[in-house]
Amino acid sequence: MRSTMQDFPLTIGGLMKHGTTVHADSEVVTATADGTRRETYAELGKRAAKLANGLRSLGIDSDQRVATFQWNNAEHLEAYLAIPSMGAVLHTLNIRLFPEQLVYIANHAEDQIVIVDDSLVGLLAPHLPEMKTVQHVIVAGPDAASADLDSLRESGKEVLLYDDLLADQPEEFEWPDVDERSAAAMCYTSGTTGNPKGVVYSHRSAWLHSQMVTTGNIGSISFHDRVLPIVPMFHANSWGLAYAALMSGASLCMPDRWLQAEPLCRFMNESKPTVSGAVPTVWNDVLGYLDKDPSKKPDSLRLILCGGSAVPVSLQKALEERHGLLVLQAWGMTETSPVASAGLPPVGADGDAQWTYRGSQGRVACGVEGRIVADDGSEQPWDGTAVGELEVRGPWVTGGYYNSDDPEVDQKFHDGWLRTGDVGSIDELGYIRLSDRAKDVIKSGGEWISSVDLENALMAHDDVVEAAVIGIPDEKWGERPLASVVVREGATLTAAELCEFLSKDFAKWQLPDSWAFIDQVPRTSVGKFDKKVIRKWYAEHEIDVEDAKS
Ligand code: ADP
Repeated sequence: MRSTMQDFPLTIGGLMKHGTTVHADSEVVTATADGTRRETYAELGKRAAKLANGLRSLGIDSDQRVATFQWNNAEHLEAYLAIPSMGAVLHTLNIRLFPEQLVYIANHAEDQIVIVDDSLVGLLAPHLPEMKTVQHVIVAGPDAASADLDSLRESGKEVLLYDDLLADQPEEFEWPDVDERSAAAMCYTSGTTGNPKGVVYSHRSAWLHSQMVTTGNIGSISFHDRVLPIVPMFHANSWGLAYAALMSGASLCMPDRWLQAEPLCRFMNESKPTVSGAVPTVWNDVLGYLDKDPSKKPDSLRLILCGGSAVPVSLQKALEERHGLLVLQAWGMTETSPVASAGLPPVGADGDAQWTYRGSQGRVACGVEGRIVADDGSEQPWDGTAVGELEVRGPWVTGGYYNSDDPEVDQKFHDGWLRTGDVGSIDELGYIRLSDRAKDVIKSGGEWISSVDLENALMAHDDVVEAAVIGIPDEKWGERPLASVVVREGATLTAAELCEFLSKDFAKWQLPDSWAFIDQVPRTSVGKFDKKVIRKWYAEHEIDVEDAKS
């Protein structure tokens, strides 16, 4: 028997219409050099329509790709709404990628137009000539007219100003009926091996994912909230926060390019977000800043969503106990839209018991299924000890990559499940606990050593600011851990002291024998610790390595 329900499509156009009409009084606040600029959701809706008309006038009339090269700001949000809603495909370019990858991605996606922020013109211009399919560049932002437009024109592409393009356009657009399964947006993974791979989100996947982000197990977002996505809109769609805000009517606070702790805290105190999301390195910097001046604490913030890499319990505790800032760890990947699980502790897990769960990657969201699979392909029990690769599936999990020529791409999938490349266990209560990425695991004398556990333990030391652990080749044991540590300014620490500190939680054979004291752990393009660089430093003798016993 069929249901009597209407088959109503779940589209970005639908959530835009809802947000900009039902919640017309909500606002998007964007940080500027000396304050903020604001637009209501009603104005946002009109500007999205003007942008769609402008893009149509440039020939965008089906599922062509329109790229953005932008910070988190009002214009980027307008593009987020207009491009998918008009039936085209939003392609968010990561502004911090290496030039070769950036050019590869733009060509692979066949981007027709790039919308670039005025402050990023200098970064894009040198690579534009190689972006073969791009025909127009649209420069957005309050200082667009004074940007170096000639540097863009040298590429031979047509260069327009965003505000000029929008100026005479109607405030309404005939938004087409879009198939909910068609492409809405695309995002490339950073490609640690081979070329970056494109993940294409559908309207339906973006809709369902964003709605899940608003639920109580994740962000609990309503129109009483104000959402601050610090995680870039080019990093896995800003974890769905932008669309989640439109869906729930929550206002958005956009930090633009002011992402360091000091301007960020100033912006938070001015724009009053209640929920925010960023990778751990951002919150670690905020913590260091607030420790020096607790009066700068953003009082409005009730919840920090944190993920992208393991979120040390020590960081969560410090933010909560010293500054009253609550952190919820979430796990996901570009391939999973990205949010798939979060670490809200079980009922009754109070006091110290809660940290076991808040240090985990949490329970999967409804819609996502997760399982642990051993090397021999067998599914492992949820007992908290059986370890294997985490596999997931669900309506916002990708089933493939866009036009990939990577010969290894099929190995990323297994009977309709995505192989995440993350290694860990699931306990009796369904909490996922990741011990490593498959490519980072350290195998010493046939036994696994978890780099994540060592890093978390090291970062719990009062005088350690950052720590990253990699495996280095060892004749006898195959591999041994090397710990790279950033020591707090003014403090002194030795390898022997840190080994002593770790020995309360780790067996002797798990302790790193090799130590490097460095100024900062290198970061990836999305602000995560970049172990590839440390491996290269080690291989090319670019860091001083101490033996723990010496
Ligand atoms: P990249 O591969 O460039 O890091 P993604 O942002 O898609 O791109 O990264 C996804 C990966 O990030 C996951 O597979 C996992 O290894 C890691 N990750 C994300 N969230 C967490 C978390 N809470 N704990 C541990 N690892 C995480």
